[in-house]
Order: sequence, then C-alpha cells, then structure tokens
Amino acid sequence: MNDREGTSSMCTPSADTGAATAAYTFATWSKQRDWTPLHVVQAEGCHFVDAAGRRYLDFSSQLVCSNLGHGNAAIAEAIAEQARRGAYLSPAFAMEVRAEAGRRVAAVMPGRLDRFFFSTSGTEANEAAFKIARAVTGRSKIISRYHSYHGSTAGSIAATGDHRRWGADPSGIAAGVRFAPDAYCYRCPFGWHYPACDLACAKYVEYMIEHEGDIAAVVVEPVVGTNGVLVPPEGYLARLREICTRRGVLLIADEVMTGWGRTGEWFAVNHWGVVPDILTTAKGVTGAYVPLGVTAVSRDVAAYFDDHALPHGHTYEGHPVALAAAIAAIREYQTQNLIGRARQLGLYLGEQLRTLERAHPSIGDVRGIGLFWAIELTKDRSQRQPFNTRADKASGRPIVVNAVVAEAMRQGVYVMGWINHLVVAPPLIIAEEAIAEGVRGLDRALDVADALVDV
Ligand code: PLP
Repeated sequence: MNDREGTSSMCTPSADTGAATAAYTFATWSKQRDWTPLHVVQAEGCHFVDAAGRRYLDFSSQLVCSNLGHGNAAIAEAIAEQARRGAYLSPAFAMEVRAEAGRRVAAVMPGRLDRFFFSTSGTEANEAAFKIARAVTGRSKIISRYHSYHGSTAGSIAATGDHRRWGADPSGIAAGVRFAPDAYCYRCPFGWHYPACDLACAKYVEYMIEHEGDIAAVVVEPVVGTNGVLVPPEGYLARLREICTRRGVLLIADEVMTGWGRTGEWFAVNHWGVVPDILTTAKGVTGAYVPLGVTAVSRDVAAYFDDHALPHGHTYEGHPVALAAAIAAIREYQTQNLIGRARQLGLYLGEQLRTLERAHPSIGDVRGIGLFWAIELTKDRSQRQPFNTRADKASGRPIVVNAVVAEAMRQGVYVMGWINHLVVAPPLIIAEEAIAEGVRGLDRALDVADALVDV
C-alpha cells in the first residue's frame, strides 16, 4: 500500500472527498500544499451545490466553458445515445456523426472555414494550427502577444504571453515565438490613446514581420480572455487582417474562450467582419459536456494538404461521443437563440457592472462584450496602480483579487479572478434575476478590495 492508498482508506465517502481529491489529483498552476478543493455534489442550470447544501451562482461558467449551463438533458442524451451506438471508431472511418458535426460546425463558422481537425482541447487545437501554419507557409516563427493564453502543451505554452510560460519555455524562442505589444487600451504599452495612436500596436506587428523574417502566422485571441477581457479598439483586427494578407502571413484567431456566443456572436471575429485563415476553438463547442477542440482552416489552407501529408493526428481525433455532444450543443444554441440572448443580456450585465464601478473605488476599469466582462481592480484610480503583478501570481504571493473571489464565494457567487481582475462570464442561459443576484454578491465582495485602496 502506498501513502495515498493509506489516505484513501481513511476517507469516508462524503466528508473526505475534498481531501482525497487533493491527495490524488493536482491543482493546476499552483502549489499543492494547503489546496482544499470545495466538494461539489450537483450542478443544475446556472448554479451548483456543495456537500453542505450551499448553493452558488456560476458567474464564470466554470472556466468560461459551461456556456449552456449545467444539466442540459438534450446533450446528456446525445452523449449516451452515441456511446451506445458507437463510442469509438478510428478516425480513419466515416461515420454519420463525423459528417453531421462537420456540416453543423461549418454552418456557423465565419467565411469559408470548413475543413476541421477535431481534437480534445483548446491547447491541442492550437498545436494543430501552428503545425499547419508552419507546413503551409514553409516558415517557422509565430507572432503572439504578451497578454495571451493559448494552452499548456509545448507549442501553445510557448506562444502564451502570460507568466504561465515562464516555467515552461521562458523565452518562447525555442519554439520560434515572438511577442507583439498588446491592444490593451487601459494600459497601453505605448502610453497612447485611441484613436490618436493610429493603432500603433497593430502597426508594430507589421514592423515585426518585416524585421524578424520567417513569420508563418500571427495568433490572437480576438477578445483576450483570461488575461483581462481586452476588447480591441475598432479597426485593430481588420488592420491585422490586412497586414497578414499583404505580407502572406496566416492569421490565427484563438476563439477557445470567445467562441460559441460568448461575446454575442457565434465567434468574436464576426463583430469586426474579419475572417482568419485558421480559427481554433474548444470549450463552448460542447458546452464543456465532453472535451472537444476544433482547428478550422480556410479552403486555401486546406488545399495545401491535397498533395502534402498532414503532419498531425490523434487517437481521439473526431471522437464520436464528443462530436455527438457538439451537434446537440449547436442545436441548443440555435433553438434557445442563445447568441442573440448573450448580446441582449450583455447590455444589462454591462450596465450593472458599471453601477458597481461608480460605487467601488477599487474598480479601475469595467469592459466587455456580450456576456464576457472584466472588472479590473486598482489601488489608486487616478494612477491606475494595480494591486498585484504577474510576478506576485507566479510566486504564489497572496493577491487581492483572490480575497475578493473568496468573499464572493462566501456570498454564494463563484467568479474567476486573475491577478488584478475578475472575469464575469455567466452561462448564456442566465436570466436577468440571476445576473442581479451575481452583481449583489460582487458588490459585497468588492468591499474587501475597497478597504485596501490607497487614500
Ligand atoms: N486558448 C485560450 C484563449 C484559452 O482561454 C484556453 C484555456 O482557457 C486555451 C487556449 C487552452 O484550452 P484548454 O485548456 O482546453 O487546453
């Protein structure tokens, strides 16, 4: 018997579920000591319930993925039905579920992005995108941005701009990644203001393409997600599209978080009428009921592989159960009109969060689109001084936003916090009353940060 089995035998099924989970599994991106995961016993609609019977509003759709809420019967049934009919067959075989998922995903993709590599996560979707971009262009480097997260596997973490790369591929250089300035107007890296800046952050990407050489692709989250819900200024994405086209560089839109109605469009690029050469997505494609990643490529990109071998593959590529879930999820988005609903309810959510901004001196900025919002905290509004830095987060120092998140949980609201901001991104099925419930919880929780503001 090893130590962990010893721990397990001491556990009673309910009380020690948290302890056993902590003993047998890893907490992601954090030190393991003192990890005490909450034991959740049920999730339904926009709420979940812990083992003590306390109910929480899911105000971040877990990791911005449970877009359809919890306990959707139609998706559960589609999964069960496919598992009975043919849970797994090699990707080499044609199956009705594969053909139908292809047709359904193609029907909602922007432009003519209608050839897909179906994997099992966002990071894998990006790995495939980078490999494809390098194969098609015959070039090796990728331009990404500092405020970005593209996944945890080798290529995707190298292309990640946030501190999670520091321990994995400190320079990004090993994997041929270069980082461009962010379209982060509240903290413009040049200290300029839009529109007088004339989109210097986009123009600098062209400068990089010219002077770096060997650039295969530019990868962007059209609205940066975890790193701040950064909605780009008008014209930014169109300018990147124009630069990439003129320079023969592929544009990859990472819509792992922003896809599937989150921003009030099927995909965030639609807000600006931009069609990338490659679009990657995951999360909301199945509403997170089953893992699925998608790398969607344009016809031009796909045509390259007519006479060149695709240098990629997975056992679980095009997994039938995941694709059945995607078909059912797309049907739910459509029949419940969830994309339009996100657009509409987003206006209400934005208004409510701006009311919080007026009431709480610790809020520096509120920004968002659709049902995708950030509340950025500051200890000094006039100077836009952040409470914490990436280095604080990377080293595991206590950070203010975590105290706000903990208080929100005490208030019955689960919300994602990241360094200096909260990410408010409820399931698209949420009702106005539940939004008001979440905002009330945040109102109380933000007092924790207000008490720490410099006066
Ligand atoms: N890309 C973006 C924009 C993401 O937000 C994430 C995860 O949050 C990923 C990629 C990685 O996705 P996954 O965790 O499914 O590998």
